[in-house]
Amino acid sequence: MDANAWYADQIDRVIIDEAELAAKVKELAKEISADFADVDGVLLVGVFKGAVMFMADLARALTVPVEMEFMALSSYGNAATSSGTVRIMKDLDTDLKGKHVIVVEDIIDSGLTLSWLLKYLGSRSPESVSVVSMLRKPDAQKIDVPVRYLGFDIPNEFVVGYGLDFAERYRELPFIGVVKPEVYQK
Ligand code: 5GP
Ligand code: MG
Ligand code: MG
Repeated sequence: MDANAWYADQIDRVIIDEAELAAKVKELAKEISADFADVDGVLLVGVFKGAVMFMADLARALTVPVEMEFMALSSYGNAATSSGTVRIMKDLDTDLKGKHVIVVEDIIDSGLTLSWLLKYLGSRSPESVSVVSMLRKPDAQKIDVPVRYLGFDIPNEFVVGYGLDFAERYRELPFIGVVKPEVYQK
């Protein structure tokens, strides 16, 4: 971490650095591209706002044709705990009929959001639905969510960066890190 970066006194430690993230994107993209090489492209469905960075990187690393859709769901507020309720704030702009849908997730924690989303997408007649998530926490094991492509399993801590926020901050950090406890107490 750059010692004079603005976040230096707010980030406790880096869990996954920029190079590790980039390498993982390449690896996942290679796997997905191979699996979908024989069909007419994939439709990436990203969930705002957390998945934006991963979605942008993944889309550019894939070697099959890509369409992109974004949905906005609310499940977490500004608090660091899950409410368990999901509301659609922005829906899909397109029909899923005949599409190979890949849900692009930043992180799977309880799995509630994803489990809900998979039911929703499944009801819209896609050709197939699979999931890629950059991160997953151990809690995700409690509810059965089929993650076909996974970046990293991480410890049960609240993380920020690479799209993930705390109170809308830190999304732009190029790594996955843990915020110092003082920040929560402000
Ligand atoms: P789940 O429904 O799986 O419990 O939570 C999904 C959403 O909660 C994620 O897409 C993300 O927005 C948020 N979330 C879960 N864990 C974390 C975390 O450690 N850090 C941040 N910033 N958001 C998280
Ligand atoms: Mg998400
Ligand atoms: Mg959030």
